[in-house]
Amino acid sequence: MRYISTRGQAPVLGFEDTMLTGLARDGGLYVPEALPTLSKGDIAALAGLPYEEVAVRVMAPFVAEAYDETTFGDLVEKAYAGFGHDARAPLVQLGANHYLLELFHGPTLAFKDFAMQLIGQMFQHTLARRGERVTIVGATSGDTGSAAIEAFRGLEAVDVFILYPHGRVSEVQRRQMTTPDEANVHALAISGHFDDAQARVKDMFNDFDFRDRVALAGVNSINFARVLAQVVYYFTAATALGAPHREVSFTVPTGNFGDIFAGHIAKRMGLPINKLVVATNQNDILHRCLTTGEYRTGRVAPSISPSMDIQVSSNFERALHLAYGGDGAAIAQLMEELKSGGFTVSQGALQALQEVYASGAASEAETSAAITDMLSRTGELLCPHTAVGTHVAEAYLGDTPMVILATAHPAKFPDAVEAATGIRPPLPPRMADLFDRPERITPVDNDLHAIEAIIEERRA
Ligand SMILES: *Cc1c(COP(=O)(O)O)cnc(C)c1O
Repeated sequence: MRYISTRGQAPVLGFEDTMLTGLARDGGLYVPEALPTLSKGDIAALAGLPYEEVAVRVMAPFVAEAYDETTFGDLVEKAYAGFGHDARAPLVQLGANHYLLELFHGPTLAFKDFAMQLIGQMFQHTLARRGERVTIVGATSGDTGSAAIEAFRGLEAVDVFILYPHGRVSEVQRRQMTTPDEANVHALAISGHFDDAQARVKDMFNDFDFRDRVALAGVNSINFARVLAQVVYYFTAATALGAPHREVSFTVPTGNFGDIFAGHIAKRMGLPINKLVVATNQNDILHRCLTTGEYRTGRVAPSISPSMDIQVSSNFERALHLAYGGDGAAIAQLMEELKSGGFTVSQGALQALQEVYASGAASEAETSAAITDMLSRTGELLCPHTAVGTHVAEAYLGDTPMVILATAHPAKFPDAVEAATGIRPPLPPRMADLFDRPERITPVDNDLHAIEAIIEERRA
């Protein structure tokens, strides 16, 4: 399978180079040139299989030229061995046709472990075979960074530098990034917001001199390999609920659009998904865009669902690329307009987006109320991101089964959960000593050269 840039001007790559490169050299994002499809029979055969088996079958067409099936099967096994639940992504019923897909049983208690643990294994395998070494740089609003540091700690062929917005991540998130003591992982506390951290990472990728000197690699949700790993649980959930014989809808708490875009890929591969509902918090640029076609950035308003506090939603570019029929020049033009504040999606493209996606937003009060409400109706304790999802999903409940992606464990955001319910959710026993481990924090200014200097100095 060949991978092309959404902006049409970067080299065409195979899977491994796409994974190691992250952002394309024309500023675009890599996407498969054509998406494979699974037949109804192939999809029906997935029902009831172990998660790892489904993962191999769903991802095989994307990675076949990079890894033979036995090797890939081993990487998948290793990736999910550390999860705290045998089903990996268990479904919980909330009501009639109403389900929660628990994606928080990985080592850092958020769905990002699904992709990051696998990408860690794939990086290690590919780099070891090639005899190469890379420097991974990533921006995080909290969960990506902890998942990346956990996945790559101690690996031979990588140094990892994670930029997080100083003072704007939860204590659990911060400690998950600052307590691993392996010499190859570094958490950098940047002054500013997540969007600043993300912009500096993009700047580093566009500084080709630096990029080549340190062999920069990215594992942010722009990395296609991450999106790919997230396609799998749409298949396990939908087939458990009757697909391919029955349609299923999903509501996805959304920030950078990676998780929900994986659902779009699953739909294009043949999974009968009725609607993908984008759930945003008060930072609702995606909800506004999907309703009006206007994509205009504003200021980030910090919320109790901080992993969704963004204005520029990187992976949305991939959905636009599909909606514009793969017209790279059109996407490059939109992204140029974004530099001066925003763009308007064409009528045809907006219609294409609205055929796949619905959307809604939850205010802070609505998010808290959703936590309280779900606890009293079902006994389930939700993290605030998931609560944004259950609030938005209410408007779309009906005869089609609705699956809400539970993106984090409530214990990762205990303050918001306690404020809503009076209950402080405990960490699972396997990570109960997190608050006793010593931290390593490196503060850094929101300045490209300062950040690059630290990276040059600390990498092996
Ligand atoms: C990252 C994250 C999100 C947003 O996911 P995207 O793929 O960026 O849309 C939602 N909830 C939690 C808990 C997250 O960590």
